[in-house]
Amino acid sequence: MENKDLQTIWQKILAGLEKKVPRPTLKTWFNNVVPVQIYNGILKIEVPNKLVKDWLESKFHLILLKTVKEFIHEIKNIEYILNTQTERVTRRISKYSFQQKITIFEVHPSTNLNPRYRFENFVVGSNNELAFAAAQGVVQNLGTKFNPLFIYGGVGLGKTHLLQAIGNEVLKKYNNIKKVRYATTEQFTNELINALKNQTIDEFRQKFREIDVLILDDVHFLSGKNKSQEELFHTFNELYNSSKQVVFSSDRAPRMIPDIEERLQSRFEGGLVVDITPPDFETRLAILRLKNQEKNYFLPDFALEIIAEKITKNIRELEGALNYIAFRLKNITNLNKDKIEILLKDYIKQSFKQISPKKIIKIVAEFYNLKEEDLLKKVRKKEIIKPRQVLMYLLREINKLSYNTIGELLNNRDHTTVLYSYEKIEKEIQQNFELYQEIEILKEKILNV
Ligand code: ADP
Ligand code: MG
Repeated sequence: MENKDLQTIWQKILAGLEKKVPRPTLKTWFNNVVPVQIYNGILKIEVPNKLVKDWLESKFHLILLKTVKEFIHEIKNIEYILNTQTERVTRRISKYSFQQKITIFEVHPSTNLNPRYRFENFVVGSNNELAFAAAQGVVQNLGTKFNPLFIYGGVGLGKTHLLQAIGNEVLKKYNNIKKVRYATTEQFTNELINALKNQTIDEFRQKFREIDVLILDDVHFLSGKNKSQEELFHTFNELYNSSKQVVFSSDRAPRMIPDIEERLQSRFEGGLVVDITPPDFETRLAILRLKNQEKNYFLPDFALEIIAEKITKNIRELEGALNYIAFRLKNITNLNKDKIEILLKDYIKQSFKQISPKKIIKIVAEFYNLKEEDLLKKVRKKEIIKPRQVLMYLLREINKLSYNTIGELLNNRDHTTVLYSYEKIEKEIQQNFELYQEIEILKEKILNV
């Protein structure tokens, strides 16, 4: 049989399989599986990695063989051959997810801190040295020296990292006797709204006023939110008057936040205000070297230099470019400048592409073979719950939408439902490789179409 014919029949075989196996499963496991040859009644198919090979052999073999026989009668058996080229990449990916699994960074439930953010893995450069010194000063002199500490700067420049590092360092230095609480302003506001709704405002106040270190991220979010501003003003005063430490961050200086009460602005400015600016080339390179090591990518220095030259404004993007390139390289032995530059161009192209939530909804619905309206509706059908959670996860991951906005897109669901779904999927992909692959496939579809 000609190879061309074999490919055509293979498509029919897949279509036949689709009647017996759910589409997402099929897509997950048969992606990059190709027939290569028929020899002595044996169909040889090439699979991208060992994991897929094991799965096909143990779970799909009989059903696949049966389907193949329906189309090519002379087939007696199937042989699965590893494609060594693609296998390399997947091994690196699964090695990566395995590592993630053992160093899984759980957000601590009472402090809300993520232990991955530390002073030790924060690269100090001229753009952030003042902020870094101030952050360390805060830990050494809790509530006395810089109170409040207000750090501001553009997106992806390390504010959250530094704020959380303060919290983690306080826990370490004071052996967990100090009560620390980190919250994004979005969380603070949502909790306040819930407390008002459920008439638990006393508990809310109690919770925020009995802590030793309050860390509130992204206070520019308070703009135009009068009730939250008022509540924060009183919370701040209580803490301040009992010499408790408060740390704020914002995307701009206190004076530049619109629609915010004068008295709160002056509280923000009452301690120390420092900014973080975009890093220079040396700092960008140092950050890339650190992440390259942390993630075991083993990219050579010249590749890191190319990335550091091109991506200048945002450290999150710097990291994004590094991940993108590391995952797409089939092989790092004969790398050259051109390869890196091409991949980097792809990355820049896709990261500037605005992706509409509508498109994400469409692709997720298609992938799981569901109607868009069923995916969005408030129906608790088992087969829809997971795809819906995946949808919420992707809307957050890709579009960076707030939990509230995602809730609104999904027939006015509560933001806590969205938060729960997001965290559930985030956790599950660390443990469930099948789901991890599904999400990778979905991301690829969404970003490449
Ligand atoms: P922001 O809160 O300012 O938007 P983040 O703190 O979330 O930015 O930083 C974005 C990413 O860049 C995070 O993964 C963070 O760990 C990393 N990052 C930022 N600054 C540094 C730095 N100086 N050293 C190491 N990693 C950094
Ligand atoms: Mg942040």
